[in-house]
Amino acid sequence: MTAAAATVPEATASPAAKLLIEGVSKWFRTSRADVQALDNINLSVGEGEFICLVGPSGCGKSTLLDIIAGLTMPDQGRVLADDQVVAGPGRHRLVMFQDSALFPWLTVFGNVMFGLKRNPEFTRQQRREIAAFHLRLVGLEKFAKSYVHELSGGMRQRVALARSLAPDPRVLLMDEPLAALDALTREQLYFDIQDIWQRRRKTIILVSHNVREAACLADRVLVMSPSPGRLREEFRIDLPRPRDVNSPEVAAVANRIVTALRGHLKAAPRALQ
Ligand code: ADP
Ligand code: MG
Repeated sequence: MTAAAATVPEATASPAAKLLIEGVSKWFRTSRADVQALDNINLSVGEGEFICLVGPSGCGKSTLLDIIAGLTMPDQGRVLADDQVVAGPGRHRLVMFQDSALFPWLTVFGNVMFGLKRNPEFTRQQRREIAAFHLRLVGLEKFAKSYVHELSGGMRQRVALARSLAPDPRVLLMDEPLAALDALTREQLYFDIQDIWQRRRKTIILVSHNVREAACLADRVLVMSPSPGRLREEFRIDLPRPRDVNSPEVAAVANRIVTALRGHLKAAPRALQ
């Protein structure tokens, strides 16, 4: 058995919990409507775990990621990171977005160095060495002096990955970081991300609406449903790494997750309108 489905249990604190999300609910009130984006989310994430959140557009994936990052505050509940309540953004929880938001006026090297600005414990020379190490990690050392407009989309996301990893955050939060890339580039990055994760063992939460991507990358895939956003089911994936997104094993796991997603969408018909 490679993927075990289970309904999502209540989050309980364990000594190894890196992140603990307890009873998180969130509403957005606009002049036109009152939207409940998240309803009573409970989740415990272990040190070094790779979690993928999947679900249709509007089910609250980005809102949950923003709350974990401390960029948005929940209306109910709380998030604990290393047993501390998250009250705002911190350098140990970094977010990487779909649009890599690199600075066009800086070189590739300069962009990765910029990510280290908030690490005053390092000398400039140390920061240079750390930046160079991470550019090697993503295979871009030859492009250190290039500017962003000279790079392909896949290379830009690699720079963004190096910039996010360089400050050594304890938790890396990724919001559909590969969604804008072509399929071949994305597949190469699946291998790169697995390789980097195996070497660095960061705690990662990646948001995706691509179920194959989630089955390829995650230790645990959490299925969300919309209106209001809820965690519905989790799939533990024990396939050996590196996984090939096109392998029959990954496809089989993805099919089971898709079936679960469809079932939960039927239960939340407003999401289809
Ligand atoms: P996802 O990332 O899964 O597509 P989001 O977290 O972006 O979903 O959104 C969840 C719900 O909350 C959606 O119905 C969306 O319209 C609503 N929402 C998100 N951000 C805001 C906001 N700033 N103001 C009003 N509604 C919002
Ligand atoms: Mg989103």
